[in-house]
Amino acid sequence: MRKQEVLAEGFQAELSEKFFRYVAIDTRADGAAPAEKEPSNPAERAFNSMLGVELTRAGAKDEQFIFLSDGSLIVRFDATAGLENKRRPCFAAHVDTYPKYPGGAVTIVHDYQGGDIELPKSGTVIPAFDLRNFIGQKIVTASGDTTLGADDKAGVAVMMQLAVDCLAGKIATHGAFDLWFCVDEEIGRVGRSGVKYLSPEIVASWTGGLVNLDGMSPNGIDVGCFCGYELIVEFFGNDAHPGVEGSKLKAAHYAAARLVCDAASAEFRLPWMSEAMQNYLYSTDITGNASQSRVTFIPRSFEKEDFALIVDRVKELAGNIAKIFGVRAAFSGYGLQYVNTEPPIRQNQWLMDALLAAHRDVGYDTKENHIRGGTDGAMVNMTYPDLPSPNIGAGMYNVHGPREFLVISEMEDCYRIVRRFLELLA
Ligand SMILES: [Zn+2]
Repeated sequence: MRKQEVLAEGFQAELSEKFFRYVAIDTRADGAAPAEKEPSNPAERAFNSMLGVELTRAGAKDEQFIFLSDGSLIVRFDATAGLENKRRPCFAAHVDTYPKYPGGAVTIVHDYQGGDIELPKSGTVIPAFDLRNFIGQKIVTASGDTTLGADDKAGVAVMMQLAVDCLAGKIATHGAFDLWFCVDEEIGRVGRSGVKYLSPEIVASWTGGLVNLDGMSPNGIDVGCFCGYELIVEFFGNDAHPGVEGSKLKAAHYAAARLVCDAASAEFRLPWMSEAMQNYLYSTDITGNASQSRVTFIPRSFEKEDFALIVDRVKELAGNIAKIFGVRAAFSGYGLQYVNTEPPIRQNQWLMDALLAAHRDVGYDTKENHIRGGTDGAMVNMTYPDLPSPNIGAGMYNVHGPREFLVISEMEDCYRIVRRFLELLA
């Protein structure tokens, strides 16, 4: 598959060493932490301090570091002589890991020759189907009772290798670039809290875009994603004895149940009837009793404008249902949570041209993906809608669970792609 060797080799052992060391450190995000606790897990800040020490030992100067208040770290690299006019990209990877499982992986390297991989803990099995494309490859897993944390320590390791190689003078000429080791991505706080500490001047300096290293296969680049929205409908009723005072009973939970039923009508597209670029309306939960009930909706669409119609219609239905049951309806929720990354990417075709060429030069026939979820860039685009923010693959699969694995050669290729992309940026 790899036709061209476009870069000096010799980085592989160092890159893997970094990866194994980083995933052994537990930096899982804490979704239950209050919003004002930044980062949600203090281990994330400690991890970034450790990266700072590592880079200082490798020769980085104090003035290259910007430690943001949320615990994230930006490291800035100037251009080498003569390349000051090149575009300046920022590469981003998150140091937190998925919150629902422990991190701190005890890693196992498999010379994969086919079949299921049975991990020693918790009866965890990675089915052969998930591994079918990787026969003959070196696969890294955790032991079955934690995440591996390749999401996104693979991206972190690639960025650290790039930094160390620059500091050691192994990359003789390069344009300016930044590295952003962000925190609490897994609990959606990059857009809510992390971005507020970024200075607009720094973001404006990212003329080469914000390139996330948080995708799966180098065969795909995530260019577009859903816009995400949250609407909470609450009904307030009146509890009473159903036999003796039935006429006083205003059943808020009946209103909630009716609303979810109406939201399942043919008027709306449901997740299990929606694919490709289609939108959907989904109720993630319904709780309550006669006096109070609550329904959470998460409409999803590639078009930001779609939410106005969907949300207005849900509110109209809720208002009508409230009248039927004699209850009061109230609306809240986060509103727009993240936006489709595609519009600013389409405004900056040079970025996709350079990224696709870099993938091609490393031996991939890479396609553009539209993913039916949100990305890191989609959270940043809430505040900075003009910043192109594609997401490239770093070799991680089955993320967000104990069956997560890394394909070492693909992480190495991610490093080669980033190096080649820097060369190609005009
Ligand atoms: Zn991730």
